[in-house]
Amino acid sequence: MLFWAGLHIVMSRKGILLLKCVLGYVLFIVVTMPSAIAAEAVAFHFSKQYDVLTQQLNSQPQQVLTQLLSSPPPSDMPVSQKAEYYAILSDTYYALTYPQKAIESARQGLSFITQQHEPWLYHNLSLIEASALEMAGKPFEALHKVDAAIGWAQENEDEKTYLLGLYVRGSLFTSLNEYNAAAESYLEAYNQTTSYTGKISKANIAGMLGVMYDNRGDYALAIPYFAEAVAHARKNDESLNLSIVLYGLGSANFRVGNVEIGEAQILESADIAKSLGDTQGVGYALKLLAEVSIKKQDYALAEQRLHEAADIFANSENKPIDFQIAKSLFVVALAQHNYQKALRYSRIAKANLDSDLMPTETIELTSLEGKLAAAQGDYQAAYEHSSQALSLSEKYHESRSAEQIHTVRAIYKVRASEQANQLLEHQNRLQRFALSAQEQRNMYLWSFIAVVLVVCCLLAVMVYRVKAQSRALVKLATTDDLTGLYNRRYIIEQLERQVIAASRYGYDLCVAIIDLDFFKKINDSYGHAVGDQVLLEFSRVCSDNLRRTDLLGRIGGEEFLVLLPHTTLQDGYDALDSLRCKVSQLRDVVGIQDLSISASVGLTSNTPNLDGMQLMANADIALYQAKTGGRDQTIIHPTSSTSVS
Ligand code: GH3
Ligand code: MG
Ligand code: MG
Repeated sequence: MLFWAGLHIVMSRKGILLLKCVLGYVLFIVVTMPSAIAAEAVAFHFSKQYDVLTQQLNSQPQQVLTQLLSSPPPSDMPVSQKAEYYAILSDTYYALTYPQKAIESARQGLSFITQQHEPWLYHNLSLIEASALEMAGKPFEALHKVDAAIGWAQENEDEKTYLLGLYVRGSLFTSLNEYNAAAESYLEAYNQTTSYTGKISKANIAGMLGVMYDNRGDYALAIPYFAEAVAHARKNDESLNLSIVLYGLGSANFRVGNVEIGEAQILESADIAKSLGDTQGVGYALKLLAEVSIKKQDYALAEQRLHEAADIFANSENKPIDFQIAKSLFVVALAQHNYQKALRYSRIAKANLDSDLMPTETIELTSLEGKLAAAQGDYQAAYEHSSQALSLSEKYHESRSAEQIHTVRAIYKVRASEQANQLLEHQNRLQRFALSAQEQRNMYLWSFIAVVLVVCCLLAVMVYRVKAQSRALVKLATTDDLTGLYNRRYIIEQLERQVIAASRYGYDLCVAIIDLDFFKKINDSYGHAVGDQVLLEFSRVCSDNLRRTDLLGRIGGEEFLVLLPHTTLQDGYDALDSLRCKVSQLRDVVGIQDLSISASVGLTSNTPNLDGMQLMANADIALYQAKTGGRDQTIIHPTSSTSVS
């Protein structure tokens, strides 16, 4: 019934009641959805105990109300369930067109919960409240709540609440005559859903769009959406739905000039309504069919249909309907030139006219009265009626413009404050993001520094170890194991360098070979270990008695090469001979009193054109002379540059 009441008014004066009715149906659908989609494991839904009631809501809203009122929630009931109870109570009041009670119930439900703890329930209750506010003619108050619910649903990917939010928003904007914004919401809902099987189906949204375009006067645009809804309802045997959307489709077709097609569809709608026992539905269809007949100038049929409709609405005390029927009968009588009858219906129409609530109807009736007066030849009255209709029309359009400006301004304010909030929220998010990005950057930086430090430490250790190893290798390659002096290869290398340097810079260089005398005997007499000890102590004596710039190396078992740079042959002789003399004291160091130790020294100095090896050979010759000359002495090679005193 409710659907028909709304639909009729929508079609006749672009009201919004049908929308409310369809919306009520959709709200019901969403509320009942949990049981229908339980198998889909949706996270957001009402608890089971209200399933039965919500399912009954569509067909028996009055019974549901009685049942709800007879079992109010006990005081120990969890608050979320209390909120659910009031959500369903509010929805029931809505379905029964009690907007104020629906608002109060929704608000009572909201008082039990917070947005923070029960966001799904909170936003669904907000949407129910918003629909009730819209029905009560207070769409502004609801706008921001609906936007909040849509925002939450989007964020939480709750498709059902999102779609419901879009429906409600579409209805709010339709109420505010903001058809573009309404179309935007409905079209988004339409595009968002692909489901034709669920209760919130694309077909239902199509029906909503059809109604919206019809409201807007865009009948051609309404047709495909109504057609889609009709096809769906037909396919699924949804008779009541089918009769409603067929009525919409027929009406739209009739308005665009497809009179025959439109008439057939309205007739079918009336037949279905009749078979369902929906007499009011039949009444509205007949009233529209009468308009079709007037258009076709079949006034007899029009009159018949209007009388049938009048019979149906006889006891409904529905003044707008009574006005519409009387007005149409007035039009018919006028067309039939039955002025007495026309006057009678004009009076009935006037009696049912509330000029405050029905401004366009007032203009229409005044204009018709003018026509009647003109038809009767009363041109004075005709002029008065016509000019009154004109001035009423001007006033009406002025007030509509003011109303629209007010509406646009109010919407703008609501939207602006929402956008400011969103901007603030967005800025907060950006700040939080920047902060966490900064923290992350710092963490990366510290991690990087730590890694670099570790790598540096490892490198330092590696460098240190490589250096130590290379030092050890150099030592190994240049020194003698036993004595720690330079080895043969290295001291001979140094000899060649010193010879070249001495020749280039013109300084004296003494080259000597020291050989321990009868060393074999020491080994043989006291053992190899004592021999080693003697070699070691001899090396120490040499190191202690030579200058830091002098170079000393072991070139054989008990043979040593000595290089004395910047040393004249005389100084060299003195130094080496004094060293030789100290060798005998080694016996004390070794601690063997009858140990006889001595050394022979062969000495030479640098001579032009002689290289290191030649100088060494000369020193060896001198050494040989010292050996053969009785040992324990220092002999200078005769070719040495300076003679020694
Ligand atoms: P001369 O006075 O003619 O030099 O007689 P010598 O015995 O010193 O010379 P010879 O060349 O006949 O003997 C050298 C000895 O030095 C032979 C070898 O056993 C000994 N010798 C060589 N290297 C080492 C060493 O590292 N340690 C010890 N204990 N003895 C060594
Ligand atoms: Mg020797
Ligand atoms: Mg020897």
